[in-house]
Amino acid sequence: MRRPPFCPRRGCPCHIDPDSPESATLARRRWFKRNGSYATKVRGPIARFKCLECGRGFSTQTFSLDYFTKRIIDYDAVRRELCSSSGVRATSRSLGCSCDSVTNRTSRLARQCVSASSRLLSQMTLKEDLAADGFESFAVSQYFPNNIHILVGSLSQLVYFCDSVTLRRSGRMTALQKRIREALEALYRPSPSALTRSFRELLAHLHERLKRCEQDPLILNTDKKLEYCRALSSCKELDEPLSSGRLVHARTDSRRKRDKHNPLYAVNYMDREFRKDLAEHVRETVRFARNVNHCMERLWIYLLDHNTHKRYRINDPVRVQRTHALEAGVEETTIARATAHLTTRRRFLSFEHLEPAALRVWRREYHTPLKGIVKGALRTINRQARRGPVDLQTVCEKLGVERLIEDVAQYLPRYALA
Ligand SMILES: [Zn+2]
Repeated sequence: MRRPPFCPRRGCPCHIDPDSPESATLARRRWFKRNGSYATKVRGPIARFKCLECGRGFSTQTFSLDYFTKRIIDYDAVRRELCSSSGVRATSRSLGCSCDSVTNRTSRLARQCVSASSRLLSQMTLKEDLAADGFESFAVSQYFPNNIHILVGSLSQLVYFCDSVTLRRSGRMTALQKRIREALEALYRPSPSALTRSFRELLAHLHERLKRCEQDPLILNTDKKLEYCRALSSCKELDEPLSSGRLVHARTDSRRKRDKHNPLYAVNYMDREFRKDLAEHVRETVRFARNVNHCMERLWIYLLDHNTHKRYRINDPVRVQRTHALEAGVEETTIARATAHLTTRRRFLSFEHLEPAALRVWRREYHTPLKGIVKGALRTINRQARRGPVDLQTVCEKLGVERLIEDVAQYLPRYALA
């Protein structure tokens, strides 16, 4: 890199998006000076610069996805492993690095994928009907099931929107399970309106999609869940499209045969893909998500891979290059632009225009149930529940602690917010 593209300090007049028209002016100006170099073990000498406007020092590494890393790990290999049902531990064994390194690279790559996805979708015109649903899985424990809301193209199976919400465990339970649930809910209780709120975000996304949409009328297929109707009726932006017939909400019984003729085929298809391709969503295994933020990071990597990389149908001849994004009518050049330098050039949050669900992933704002729970607490709760109702005070006394949950902030490196 002979010329740094911009000053990395937010708020500096030279902090200009390299993809914006103003960056051309910056490229002609002398806004930085060279400031020597420093030696690294894995990358050799790294050139340093100083911004003449704000005085901030930086290097060529500042603009690299590998900012601050001390070792080179192939991002494509991480993506391939995670998208083909390898867990973090299996990936770390296969790449010969630690589990923390895998998680670290996954987070870096996830932010790149969030950025690429949002750039890709912001430029496209919708040409098909949509299906929306909540994919059911769990994080931390089966007592904290979640719904991962997805909005999928009916013909292309392109995933337009994704958000996760933690739910209260319901359904049939034994007396023991009810006692454990009661004890755990005293420690963390999901918000009862979270499902409707999350679906309303999906509808806000849909409203944006309607602004660039050739499909008339546009049909939104869902199952008969009441929360969906509730969210739709409370979404003021969609009143007009719904009453004018521009948008139609079609409801299908979720027990209907899951074949290609089912209007919910696209979401059923994604359900199956998640179950078989992502280790943490495979049923009846010991692999499950321990942290909601990490779970969503892996999912966004998967979604970009699914939308722009994966073959549209596995039985297509190999020479046929159909992907879900191409099937949805996205131009090849748009895909190339959105995914350019994905695993090398670091994307800056200040230049991104992200919707709330994507921003939550970037900033790791999902709440993980029981995060910071003291060691041995779950085992003690389980043991007590076998004998009768659980008293959390005695659990505390037994473990010799004042509180069962310690305040542990979600780790978020500062460079992720630049
Ligand atoms: Zn500056």
